[in-house]
Amino acid sequence: KERSPRYNRILLKLSGEALAGDEGFGIDPRVLDTLSLEIGQLVGIGVQVGIVIGGGNLFRGAALQTAGLDRVAGDHMGMLATVMNGLAMRDALERSNIRTRLMSAIPMSGIVEHYDHRHAIRYLKNGEVVIFCAGTGNPFFTTDSAACLRGIEISADVVLKATKVDGVYDDDPVKNPEARKYDRLTFDQVLDSKLGVMDLTAICLCRDHDMPLRVFNMNKQGALLNLMLGGNEGTLVAS
Ligand code: UDP
Repeated sequence: KERSPRYNRILLKLSGEALAGDEGFGIDPRVLDTLSLEIGQLVGIGVQVGIVIGGGNLFRGAALQTAGLDRVAGDHMGMLATVMNGLAMRDALERSNIRTRLMSAIPMSGIVEHYDHRHAIRYLKNGEVVIFCAGTGNPFFTTDSAACLRGIEISADVVLKATKVDGVYDDDPVKNPEARKYDRLTFDQVLDSKLGVMDLTAICLCRDHDMPLRVFNMNKQGALLNLMLGGNEGTLVAS
């Protein structure tokens, strides 16, 4: 190990869609293997990796509510979806010989470990990847908020939000070719300009606890490793 990584401990937020591949729904095992490879590279250079996994590839409470379901029941289904994604992600990581723990905010004896932040930190120090699932355990929250919350709890150096775009833009880069990417933003800029980085709960949590946040493109191969080695990827949001 010649160059020590820029971060000692990270919290990576993977949305459910990140697992879905081209279908946009469900879980694509090939995508899981690619993700495992990228995560394994980080573990290989000594980065402690915590992951919060989303569930939008399976169920979203808000969408279920639109379809007529009770919102709380829908959110419970959404949280259970994140547990399924977590099981799939852990399976892929372990098949790649990356030691992995799966911790759930909602106890599910026999399937996942119940989340305990002191245990999580111990596992991370031990070089194990820790996947946090079931979001915050409460309806009306998102896994983005869960990512910021867990990031703060485990004293991560940064929360990394994996997306399909290169970072935060002043307009939708898909629709507007003139849209410009920000390299750096403050939390207040994100809040004032209503930039859709994450929901307000997540942004406020990071702002109040001085947790830097970086939005980057996970479809770009090697972006994650490049970031660890000091490269500049995506948009940094910090105070
Ligand atoms: N959810 C919730 N509480 C949480 C986190 C998630 O109720 O703390 C539910 C919510 O219904 C959400 C779904 O789980 O729509 C899936 O999470 P999310 O939409 O954040 O997943 P992503 O968009 O990251 O795939």
